[in-house]
Amino acid sequence: KGILYVVATPIGNLQDLTPRAGEILREVDVIAAEDTRHTRKLLSHFQFSTPLVSYHEHNEQTRGKALIERLMKGESVALVSDAGTPAISDPGEELVRLAVEHDIPVVPIPGPNAALSALVASGLPAQPFLFLGFLPRTPKGRREELTRWARIPATLLCYESPHRLLPMLQDVLEVLGNRRVAISRELTKKHEEWIRGRLAECIRYMEEAGVRGEYTVVIEGAAEQEAGQADPQKNWWESLSVIEH
Ligand code: SAM
Repeated sequence: KGILYVVATPIGNLQDLTPRAGEILREVDVIAAEDTRHTRKLLSHFQFSTPLVSYHEHNEQTRGKALIERLMKGESVALVSDAGTPAISDPGEELVRLAVEHDIPVVPIPGPNAALSALVASGLPAQPFLFLGFLPRTPKGRREELTRWARIPATLLCYESPHRLLPMLQDVLEVLGNRRVAISRELTKKHEEWIRGRLAECIRYMEEAGVRGEYTVVIEGAAEQEAGQADPQKNWWESLSVIEH
């Protein structure tokens, strides 16, 4: 049997492709990519010419089967998404599950991930944390989902697309209260920016400054919120901090 490699690729800065990820992408028989055009650009930057097939949410059933057949015949496959770590709010989970069911070895090639990068630089407790990915698109669904996690004493991590970011933050404010947040923008890119502070003030700032690029939101957990209020060490969170790199 071949090996299924789950390969993390850059979330902005191409230098973040690890040497090992590069080696795997160069040497496997085929790369299964969320968007072949997108991944072709990455490959041509590094002058790799590995064959690509598409693997995304609309063809994962049929394509998954075909990839498993290739793996069973001894071919090696690298699974990549457009950016970051496959299966993390990206296609991949299903193919990995199929491979595991077929006793095909699955090897992760660790690397860039927006959620963990945001978490470790947020200044909020790094454990426990709860990765929520994208919240539901509708306000009702979003509020219901947030209500499920409202009392969990864990730092919360959310992805969101720019056009839904402000409505999403408004719902977080309504359901979870005026918690401390660290909002990261364009991680690893030229215009990386960090907005930290109480949610209400961050929202006001972003309404004025505008929302552009990719954002990952880190929200303090429920218990932290209560404990933090009595902790003078954490007073700096009370004023808005915006840092552009
Ligand atoms: N699989 C990816 C990972 O490992 O991070 C996440 C893919 S998900 C479809 C895309 C979302 O991740 C974006 O909407 C944004 O919330 C977040 N994201 C991706 N790149 C980012 C970056 N450079 N800075 C901040 N957030 C980012």
